[in-house]
Amino acid sequence: MLRHVRNYEKGFAEYFRVERAFAFWKGRVALYAILKALGVGDGDEVILPGYTCVMDVNPVKYLGARPVFVDIEPNTYNMNVELLEEAITAQTRVIIAQHTYGYPAEMDAIMEIAQSHGIDVIEDCCLAPGSRYKGKLVGTMGIASYFSSQWNKTYTTGLGGMALCHNRELADKIQQFCNDELKDAAFSKAVLLSMQRMVYRAVIYPRTTMTARRLFRWLITKGIVIGSSSSQEKTTTAIPQGFFTAMSSGQAKAGLAQLRCIEENFAHRRKMAKLYDSLLREKKWPVTEVPDYTEPVLVRYPVRITEKWQAIKEAVSCGIELGTWFESPLHPKETKVDLYDYKWGSCPEAERAAGEVVNLPLHPRTSEKTIRRMVEFITRYQFA
Ligand SMILES: *Cc1c(COP(=O)(O)O)cnc(C)c1O
Repeated sequence: MLRHVRNYEKGFAEYFRVERAFAFWKGRVALYAILKALGVGDGDEVILPGYTCVMDVNPVKYLGARPVFVDIEPNTYNMNVELLEEAITAQTRVIIAQHTYGYPAEMDAIMEIAQSHGIDVIEDCCLAPGSRYKGKLVGTMGIASYFSSQWNKTYTTGLGGMALCHNRELADKIQQFCNDELKDAAFSKAVLLSMQRMVYRAVIYPRTTMTARRLFRWLITKGIVIGSSSSQEKTTTAIPQGFFTAMSSGQAKAGLAQLRCIEENFAHRRKMAKLYDSLLREKKWPVTEVPDYTEPVLVRYPVRITEKWQAIKEAVSCGIELGTWFESPLHPKETKVDLYDYKWGSCPEAERAAGEVVNLPLHPRTSEKTIRRMVEFITRYQFA
């Protein structure tokens, strides 16, 4: 059954026109494999944007390296490249360039700074498959990149991750590390996950999302469904048991099916994001203006409002699918940020964004009607 996994890797690599792709149980596992293959370890520093998911920071900590956070610029929520140079020290080994919400990071500037210091760049494409920077697909510019197909990303395999590698020597090291240490998913876990995908298909897309999500969370607490993160992953930096796990055959099959309709998925997202732009402009709301050399495919449509938590509460009771990413400089809210070397006040733009940004759906079943309804709902609040 390994056949599906190999085919999915091959299909993914072909889509990106990259030589090697490696599939994993989750996106964070892909990042871990890349960092490990790069030899990142004790005493090294890894630079990340101070507006990310703690699951990005965990692999850095698992390897004994120190995360260093750079504040974001407020328009695209990506790393502010003006602040990048001063974060670099003699210990810096890697810069993680995250393409937040799907907006491409300033890759030319990041690559130039990195190269002048002999540092490697890994692209975090978990929220950005399909986005382009100066004509190039994100994920094809750094030495390696990684993707997530967790259930609320651009496309889903329930849980899932992929690493792309553009450097033969590094790819061989990833391969070696996988041969030596990658474990197959326990049969029961893989079966549970395929049931989760069925539940997802049945209930997650229609308007019942909030109810479905609550049902999901409840099932997770009962141990009936596999959640994407355990509380341990937000409050300790010890590597969880069974972390380094391979992609299962069922995930790969779902991935292959998703690849077959990926262009429609991207086109739908672009079209619906334009509709949000124009409806919000009509209401005199500010929208993110991106440079004309980027073509984002957004995972969700971010907007800033002054009453984020109030809106989220009200959205739940109206059955409105309002997203909370990111709730903290190291999403989610429960993250004990000091444990991950984040100092409050060090990334003020990121902290402000965490308190203001909510996001609106763009997934394949979002219709024009949903979008009008979302805009109607959100513009009852005050933009920030
Ligand atoms: C979802 C996400 C991850 C982690 O992906 P998993 O597949 O859940 O491990 C990492 N970085 C960002 C920016 C993400 O959105």
